[in-house]
Amino acid sequence: MNLTRRELTRLMGAGALLSKLPLSAQAQANQSQGQKLRYCIVGLGRISMQHFMPGVRQSEHSQITALVSGHRQKAEKMAAEYNVPLKNIYTYDNYDGIAGNKDIDAVYIALPNSMHAEYTIRAAKAGKHVLSEKPMATTVKDSQAMIDACRKAGKKLMIAYRCQYEPTNLRAIKWIRDGRIGKVQAIESSNGFNIKPGEWRLNRKLAGGGPLMDVGIYSLNACRFLTGEEPARVEGYSSVIDHDGRFKEVEENLSWTMKFPSGILASCNTTYGANMDGYYRMHGSKGTLHLEPAFSYEGLRFKAKIQGEHAVDEPTNDPEPRQFTREADYFAECVRTNKEPKTDGEEGLRDMKWMAAIYQSAGLKEG
Ligand code: NAD
Repeated sequence: MNLTRRELTRLMGAGALLSKLPLSAQAQANQSQGQKLRYCIVGLGRISMQHFMPGVRQSEHSQITALVSGHRQKAEKMAAEYNVPLKNIYTYDNYDGIAGNKDIDAVYIALPNSMHAEYTIRAAKAGKHVLSEKPMATTVKDSQAMIDACRKAGKKLMIAYRCQYEPTNLRAIKWIRDGRIGKVQAIESSNGFNIKPGEWRLNRKLAGGGPLMDVGIYSLNACRFLTGEEPARVEGYSSVIDHDGRFKEVEENLSWTMKFPSGILASCNTTYGANMDGYYRMHGSKGTLHLEPAFSYEGLRFKAKIQGEHAVDEPTNDPEPRQFTREADYFAECVRTNKEPKTDGEEGLRDMKWMAAIYQSAGLKEG
């Protein structure tokens, strides 16, 4: 996870370049680089239908060639929209049949958290590469099993940490690495939303935990990629304020602190009881860097106040669904060039281990 300066510069350059090129020029640039990665979409819910699939539609490196869904009508509608042949629609039961389908190179898993492991392992056994949504699983054990299965099959595994490919977040990392805010002392970060009753996210068996697993993971991952360090210590507290039936199985609020080996202290909050524009703020000896929103699909804002310099306050022009185009295409590049993804299974596993430690410290359990 320690981004080298060269890797960071390359990712920033690619992101910035892609967002500036008109679509026709993007297409030309991309076409010259060879065949598209052909994705099978596993789970037709919000993230896949509203974000990832439209992102792939704008791409010239990636393509949707198969679908897995429990709802035939919905699958046929999406198949028509994305030119997917009807023979390439699978159910959760006949999913293993993707093994014999030469139209599929990789799967994108957008199911409830606890199902990521099973569908990753089945995909690896079927000889397909895997891009799995975050959190990679609901337990450390399942996460390790996903890594082992993909390794054994010789297939790539990437976790969909889109912020690690997003230009505003990459710019923040570069500012920190270049020492623009001086020695970093403290980080604050929050992310949360007011959840509606009835969501699978409130079901422990499917979600594995509450807001930490779902949206707090953005703050945790950001603190790790911003510092380039693994925490030395974590400590968490949880609470339920709204006794309205939603939080019988998962936490409503979770706050945690982390001490990094350099001495940087991070303090983070996540909730299912209030709407938060996910953000982080880093305090350094020369100034402050503030991204808000930091984790949204678009409209991210970069702010900095450095001693003796003009304040910076710049919105990012990177409209939806470009983050998903970038993510899909980065994985396509990894497969094409046989490169290990920056956010591979090991990166997902590190977050899973820290979340388990935070839960344990708060008197809760992972999974
Ligand atoms: P969703 O509820 O909208 O979609 C889930 C899909 O899984 C649906 O198609 C549903 O039919 C299917 N499914 C299969 N078996 C199911 C079962 N037993 N119970 C419930 N649904 C079942 O959820 P979503 O918001 O699209 O989230 C899916 C995954 O994507 C989650 O892991 C989530 O953390 C992740 N996610 C990532 C981002 C991101 O920005 N990277 C954003 C939102 C969600």
